[in-house]
Amino acid sequence: MRLRNKPWANEYIQQHPNLVIPNPEEVKGKWNEIFQNENPIHIEVGTGKGQFIVGMAKQNPHINYIGIELYQSVIVSALSKLEEEQLPNLKLLNVNAKNLTDYFAPGEIGRVYLNFSDPWPKNRHEKRRLTYKTFLSTFETIMVDEGEIHFKTDNQGLFEYSLKSFSEYGLLLKFVSLDLHKSDFEGNIMTEYEEKFSKKGQRIYRAEAKYPSKK
Ligand code: SAM
Repeated sequence: MRLRNKPWANEYIQQHPNLVIPNPEEVKGKWNEIFQNENPIHIEVGTGKGQFIVGMAKQNPHINYIGIELYQSVIVSALSKLEEEQLPNLKLLNVNAKNLTDYFAPGEIGRVYLNFSDPWPKNRHEKRRLTYKTFLSTFETIMVDEGEIHFKTDNQGLFEYSLKSFSEYGLLLKFVSLDLHKSDFEGNIMTEYEEKFSKKGQRIYRAEAKYPSKK
């Protein structure tokens, strides 16, 4: 993702504390109070400009969504979409995913979406990949028993790495598509990157992986 300097981003975010939740460590274990219901909470890690998470929130009003994005200059695009749409079941968080256990209590999250995560192709950057074992452990800590990761990418190398990483961690593969747009998968919501890459003729890979029961 090319980052543009947007000096106004911080102020814009701070003006919308009802949409980009400030001080999320204070909300840990209490996210249902933010949404004012007991519906399941699904998160997208690396939400980018927000097209996927906005589409999911519109498609599934009885699920709460949180889009998590590291960069202010990127999350502002998701924020402006959210301002237009007024979706009560969608919030944003401007944090680093490596610290998710500071913001969510064990079992608070029902599902994690990873879409077009940065591939970090060099071996020495393996630990930065969002499907590396330390991230899988972080996601497991905050997720319900038998929680799921739903993963899409255009990057064959990252896909193969991630399937291996899921499997080595003990996750069970529920769904694998090597060409999502030619599969019979229904209800796909495209991300910004997905639109860009599929227009160029690149195929999209998708997997669903489930954590084994801890009971
Ligand atoms: N999911 C979007 C899509 O498919 O259009 C964006 C994909 S973009 C390649 C990856 C995004 O993940 C970037 O916006 C990046 O800032 C974000 N990201 C990467 N590592 C992150 C982390 N540790 N915590 C939060 N966001 C992260």
